[in-house]
This record gives sequence, C-alpha cells and structure tokens, in this order.
Amino acid sequence: MESADLINISRSSISRPKGTQNLPLDSVRLSVHQRAQTTARAGTDPTNLPDGQHRRVILHSDMNHFYAAVECLRRPEVRNRPMVVGGDEELRHGIVLAKNPLANKLGITTAMTLVEARQRCPELVVVPPDHQRYQHYSRKAREIYYRFTDLVEPFGLDEAWLDVSGCTLLQGQNRGDRAKGFHQNPHDHFQYGQQIADQISQCVKQELGLTVSIGVSWNKVFAKFGSDYKKPNAITLITPDNYRDLVWSAPVSTLLYVGRATQRKLNTLGIYTIGDLARADTALVQGCLGKMGITLQTFARGQDSTPLRPLNPERLRADHDVKSVGSGLTTAHDICDEHEARMLIHILSQSVAQRLREQGLRARTVCIQVRDQTDLARYVRQQTLPAPSNITSEIANAAIALLLQNESLDGSRPLRSLTVRATNLISVLEPLQLDIFGDESKRQEMERLDASIDALRRRFGNKCVRRGVELGDEKLKRPER
Ligand SMILES: [Mg+2]
Repeated sequence: MESADLINISRSSISRPKGTQNLPLDSVRLSVHQRAQTTARAGTDPTNLPDGQHRRVILHSDMNHFYAAVECLRRPEVRNRPMVVGGDEELRHGIVLAKNPLANKLGITTAMTLVEARQRCPELVVVPPDHQRYQHYSRKAREIYYRFTDLVEPFGLDEAWLDVSGCTLLQGQNRGDRAKGFHQNPHDHFQYGQQIADQISQCVKQELGLTVSIGVSWNKVFAKFGSDYKKPNAITLITPDNYRDLVWSAPVSTLLYVGRATQRKLNTLGIYTIGDLARADTALVQGCLGKMGITLQTFARGQDSTPLRPLNPERLRADHDVKSVGSGLTTAHDICDEHEARMLIHILSQSVAQRLREQGLRARTVCIQVRDQTDLARYVRQQTLPAPSNITSEIANAAIALLLQNESLDGSRPLRSLTVRATNLISVLEPLQLDIFGDESKRQEMERLDASIDALRRRFGNKCVRRGVELGDEKLKRPER
C-alpha cells in the first residue's frame, strides 16, 4: 500500500484501498499504520545517535506561572484569589498574559481577552505587567543556573535549557565511578541530572520564592517535554527506558514546534500521538510537511542532537551599551542594477545579523546609508521592523525594500557605497510580543537556519557557506567586520 493511500483514507471514507471497503475506517488506518511501524522501527532507536549524543544530560527549567507568580510575591493578598497579568484593560483588545493557578482552574487561558476572562470570573484581579520586574527575576534565575553550568540557553524570560553533561561526568569522576563503568551507564548520568535539577529547584524556591518544573533528558526536545509533563514544582526524567511510555503516548500537539496547523495536517495522516509520528513513514510525513516534517520526526524519535546556544553573560553585559551594528562597503565599480544591489545588501545584512546574534541582540530598526559615485549625494533611510529581529533574511528584506523605495536602479544614478545598519537594539532576553497571526514557526525555522550557518562559519570560515543570492560577488569585496 502506498503512502498516498493513507492520505486518501484519512481525507475521505469514499476513497479506500481495494479490499478494505467493508472494514471500519479506524481498522484500515491501523493496518496501514502497523505496516509503517514495522518498516520504520529500525530508525526509531534514540541510542542510534552520533557518538556521545546519548550521553548528554539536558535540563529544561520552566518557571511556573512566571508573571503571575512574580506579582503574587509583591502582592501576597492576591495569592488566594483568581488573578491574571494583563494588558491595558481600557483597550478592548487587552489580553491575558499570565494567570495564577486559581484563574487557570476557572478556564482562563493565556491570550484570552480580558473581557472574556472577566465574563468567566467577575471577581478576577487584573494586574498590569511589569516587564522590568520579570527581567530582574529572570536574570536572578539564570544566575542560579550558571552555578551549575555555563551552557545555558534562555527560551523566553521564564524558560531555559541547561547542558549539564560536563557536571554529571565530573560528579561521576569525583565519586570514583569511572572505574565502575560510570561512562557506560546512562542511568547514572540521569540520576546526577536529577540531583542537579533538585538543587536548582531548591535554590529558586529559597532565594526567589518561585517554583520551577524541570525536565531531564538527553536532548532538548524531550527535556522541554519533561518540564511540561508535570507542573508545578516537579522534576520529570525522560530516559531511554521510559520515553516510549511518557512521550510517545502523548498527543502530537505536545511536541515542541507542533502548532495547530501542523497538528491538523498530521491528524489527516492518522498521526495523533508523538509515537505515531516517530513510527510513521518518513516519506509520508515529508510529503505532508516538507523538511519540517523530517525535523519533527527526528524530534519525536529522540534523535535531536541540536547543541545549546548559550549566551555568554559577560559578553551580554559588555554589549549592553551597543547602540547600533552596521556594515558598509564601497565597491570597486558602480552598482547599476537591482540584482547587484540585492546581492550586496544580502552580504551586508548577513554580516550585521550575524553580529547581532553573536551579541545576543535584536534590532527594532533597519537603516540604509547610500552614496552615489559623486560622493556628494548621501542619504539615510530607516524602517521599523514588524518585530525586533536578528534574522538575516528579515533584515535584508527591510534594507532592500528601503533601497527600492528610493532608487530606480535603472543605471541613471549608479551607486558606489552602501551601508546596512541595525539600530534601536534590545537584548534577546527581552520578551517578544508573539505575533499570533504571523507565521511564528517560519521565523523559528529561519532562526534555526541562521544558527546553522553561524555554526558552520565559526568552524570553517566565512566563505564555507553562502546563500544563493550572495553568489557572484567576487567583484564586490566582502565587507570588513
Ligand atoms: Mg513558565
């Protein structure tokens, strides 16, 4: 049976494979699925990883009801009342940014309008957000994490991944377990991981008065799953022994990066749980979701080997005063056509965006500075981005749009010098207003692409990888960084 059959079965009960017309739909789907399972099982062993990957110990720490918990510290009197942190109530589009457990019980959800939340609970306490305060607590939590490892990757203000593989090895060595085969037994790693999670949980509680949920696993995706699995104030280990029971039985929507649209598409393939996705035929998933499908299946199988992208705290502090990041180039010959101008802007934007990422910054504004060959006509144009960004393609697109608004590029006014500059900078640790109507998963994809390119360039030099649009730039020298 071909994969196309499965799509047909799911989408319409009329189009069924031969010989299955009298069977209930579910059993047809199951039989197709069972075949998919047997063919794909060989690829689902998470210990089938590059050397050492399964010995990683990754923690994901998530501060519970973060904004609401911080507000309850300041106003203990609201602790026992349903309360939410919400945007401006005067504006009808004010929404719930966070809720405490009591409001949660009443069915109030994040992103619900305040009007709707009040309808559900007229005595609801609404507190305005205080982002500076949340940042303070976020920083304090990170300081606790840094006591255990310098490999900390923040995910928003209230979540972070920690790679504690080094610490667990060290503890094993200290206890002389190496001789007893410590390195052979992944269970020891997870036990030490759990001990570290315990200590972090206690420190956050004692020093900050907040609770965390922590997931411990060998990859980021399962660690994140673990921190969501049990809340609040809990630690969940996802190990090679229990991931089939805990992770694979969960709805596919609980997997990181599976949004509602992706969930719907997977459901049409008969994929309802994370285990279904792990066992499904790869070509089938790819046919439905493209490359993203392959990535998600890798996640579901526990084969995600993405390293953490740690922020260097010293560097962040040092760069706090950076006002702008720019990259400019005076070319050896005049730029007369749009193709060349686009190419140059991409190269400059890549340099700018990469430096923003290295410094843990995002830009709100993109500027271009243009000079023609007379060196006299010089102007600056700027544009505010829809959302703060350090994504190469977003910065390049904004810069290109600015240029096309101001230049005809028909050869009548050749350009000699171009600069792309990112200004109005904020730290990546500052919370972003998620654009719920925008394509957030696409942005995450682009961020991942940028991160991969950065990693390759760090390792093999700037020229090892280029975007298609940058090809043919030999006449345009690369900008000085
Ligand atoms: Mg949280």
